[in-house]
Amino acid sequence: MPAPPFEGPFINPVHVPQMRKNVFEYQDLLFRQMLARSAKVSVAAVDDAIRERTPGYYLSLLSEEFEKPAMKVAFRQATPEGKNDIMPFIPMDEPLSARLKAFTFSYSSLSKILACPFLFYHQYILKVSPPSFMDDDEKINQRMGTFIHRFLQQLSTVRKDRQGDWGPLFDELWESGENEELRSLEGIEIYRLNAKIILQEIEEEERASGRRILFAANAISCEEKFSGKIAGRYSITGRSDRLALLEGRALVIDFKYSKKRSGFSLSSRETVLERFREKHILHPAAQLILYSHFIPEAKGACFYFLKETSKNRIMEIPDKELDTSGELVSAIADRLDGIVRGDQLAAEYDSRECEYCRLQSLCGKEGYYRTAGGSR
Ligand code: SF4
Repeated sequence: MPAPPFEGPFINPVHVPQMRKNVFEYQDLLFRQMLARSAKVSVAAVDDAIRERTPGYYLSLLSEEFEKPAMKVAFRQATPEGKNDIMPFIPMDEPLSARLKAFTFSYSSLSKILACPFLFYHQYILKVSPPSFMDDDEKINQRMGTFIHRFLQQLSTVRKDRQGDWGPLFDELWESGENEELRSLEGIEIYRLNAKIILQEIEEEERASGRRILFAANAISCEEKFSGKIAGRYSITGRSDRLALLEGRALVIDFKYSKKRSGFSLSSRETVLERFREKHILHPAAQLILYSHFIPEAKGACFYFLKETSKNRIMEIPDKELDTSGELVSAIADRLDGIVRGDQLAAEYDSRECEYCRLQSLCGKEGYYRTAGGSR
């Protein structure tokens, strides 16, 4: 249920009328869309007898719209107190364990199972995907990122001739049948324009600095598939965005259609391997450490953040990190052994996946369900 209109004593809504209205309208819209797609609706509500708000605002609205009275069936006086009082998990059995052992991981699915096995199970085994009306900016950005990857792949391979004048190629790919789904998203035009502006800025920056990476005929291969075994026990596969020859060195480049988030910064106090061994947290740089491990031609690796505004778009992975790739691979295999041989796939409420995870309604992470008394 959406939160009822704010009426607390501490924030004067006169000072923040827009915020209050926007939050309310957004929640109201979501609520109606969920109802419109539901064959049957079960409402869990709090019997707020003290403030005489039972049935509450939205229950009354439902009651009126469906012309049915709100019936008191099994109301509680309050929602259960306490954090994490219900922690869902998937019990492990032989077939599931066998399936996990035979699973071919991508870096994305690997990082999910290591961060939150519960999320991995729903996303990659059950293949649950949230309904499209829950798509947010992040999801649209991901799709734009996929398009930009395709554009860059074409520009550095079969359409190298367009390096000096890439605009028509961008438009041609945008209008292609393959891009129809993205192109027909409502409001996508602004994302398209934004992407073009970003590419123009990068081109100017590269021309001014003389260090051409994105707009250069430096590709040894693009989107080339690799596969291998994690410590001989688990299968992994992936595609490197570009293997490029830069200053005489073959570098794996991974393009990120984002800014450089703080989580990408490498610590001077602990390596990616040490962090993983001690805390079981896989640093994002592990992606390129693994790629360089499984792509024998690679002599270095870097991320290229296309949306970074500081002009410091490139993050090279230090050799001391790349040199530990064999040990990191072994440590990951050991951790996978622990998960596969364990008795359950549990939700990890503190995982770094939580921020963008849209399965909070399934795992019950705190903050998803709001009540008048706060969140739980
Ligand atoms: S919100 Fe967090 S704990 Fe819940 S499924 Fe997603 S990643 Fe796992």
